[in-house]
This record gives sequence, structure tokens and C-alpha cells, in this order.
Amino acid sequence: MNSRNGIIPDQRKCFRISLMSKPLTHRILVVDDEESVRVVFARLLQKVGYEVATAENGFDALLKLKLLLPDVIISDLNMPQMSGFEFLSVVRRRFPQISVVASSGAYGSKVVPTGVLADVFFAKGQDDPKALVNSVADLIRTSAARARAHQEESAPVWIPRNGKDSNGIPYIVITCTECLRSFPLNVTKEDDSEVLETLCLFCSNTVKYIIDFSLSVTSPPKALSPSIRAPGTGVSSRLLANP
Ligand SMILES: [Zn+2]
Repeated sequence: MNSRNGIIPDQRKCFRISLMSKPLTHRILVVDDEESVRVVFARLLQKVGYEVATAENGFDALLKLKLLLPDVIISDLNMPQMSGFEFLSVVRRRFPQISVVASSGAYGSKVVPTGVLADVFFAKGQDDPKALVNSVADLIRTSAARARAHQEESAPVWIPRNGKDSNGIPYIVITCTECLRSFPLNVTKEDDSEVLETLCLFCSNTVKYIIDFSLSVTSPPKALSPSIRAPGTGVSSRLLANP
């Protein structure tokens, strides 16, 4: 041992720093394909003392989660690459301890859209930003109970319909919830909203999934900024009307 209490000098230094620092700062990850939204949300949350990281889409966010786990994720639903629907279902399976706010400009109601694995829904451009800050504080306060409830859920994966392959057969791309690798799968029924199952081609994990028939997986056009509500942007009425 290098010292009386068995702590080597470097460790002692870290220990001292951690004792001196304030109570643990809560971390928030903001996921949105629009830079203006990331900036506005980050400033808002930093102002009340949170540590904020940002990501541009679901894949980017999963990479960020490998480095550091936040207490709360605020995620847009309509993003290119990997939509919020898919991302949040991966989060719920892999990180059930994290509470989630789904944010979107494409839904009018304050209710979490059907099938979205989120604790709270924030209507961008409609709800008061203060409500977002309050929701985050509530989620942090109730995180232990939520983590237990999340763990008991079996979260299906949301898959956007990707179109038709070269033979004209509709297909989807499934991202495995265990190994996170993606593989294509042909769709036999055009409008199946049930929870389906398939084996991952790579690790043989059973992946539960729902096909996301929303028409668009990208955000509303730029002209419709977050401050303006965009009615009926790209989300099918079928999705909204589902019980
Ligand atoms: Zn897999």
C-alpha cells in the first residue's frame, strides 16, 4: 500500500474532488434532428442546473448512451436515420432505469401517442417550455418507482416501413434490441398493427416489433418551426386513432 489508508495519490485526488463537488448533477439527453430545438431545450435545462448532452437522431443518441447514461431523455419522435419510436423502444429495453419525455410537433394532444414508450409527452410549439422543465423534475423525483415499472414491461420495437425491394415486395429494417444490428425483413401483410416477433439474424434474440405505418419519419418541414404548430404533419390518422 502506498499510504496509510490504502489510497494511492491519484485516487486520493479524485476522492477529494468528488467530496468537494456539489450534490450529483442530474443529466439530460436531448435528441432532436433540428438544431434549433436542441439548442433551446439545452439552454432551458442548463439554466436550472442540469447537465445536458444532445444527439441528432436515434443512432447518435445510442452512441451517446454508451459513454454516459442520463437520468432523463427528451426525444423527438420524427427523425431521419432512426426515429424516436424506434429509439425509445430500444431505450426502454436496454435502459429501463431512464425516464423519457417524447416531444413532437406532429401531435396535438398532451397524451403520449399510442405505442410510444415514454413517460410524458411534450407537444413542441404548443406546450409551455416551463412544463418541460417541470416534467423533467417530476421524472427525476419518481425515477426509482418508474424504473421498476419499466422493467416489468415487455417493450416492442417500432419499425418504420421502408418501402419496396427490387422485386416490389414491401420490407422493413429491424434493429435487434440485444446486439443493435439491423437486418431487412419482408412484410407480408400491408397493414398489420399487431405486435409481431422474429429472431435476430445475428444473435438469435427474439425481437418483438410493431410496424410503424406513419407516412414520414422525418420532422415537419423547416418552415414549420417548433414555435408553430404543424397540424397533421406526416403522421397517419390511423396511428393517432389507434386505441
Ligand atoms: Zn441481435
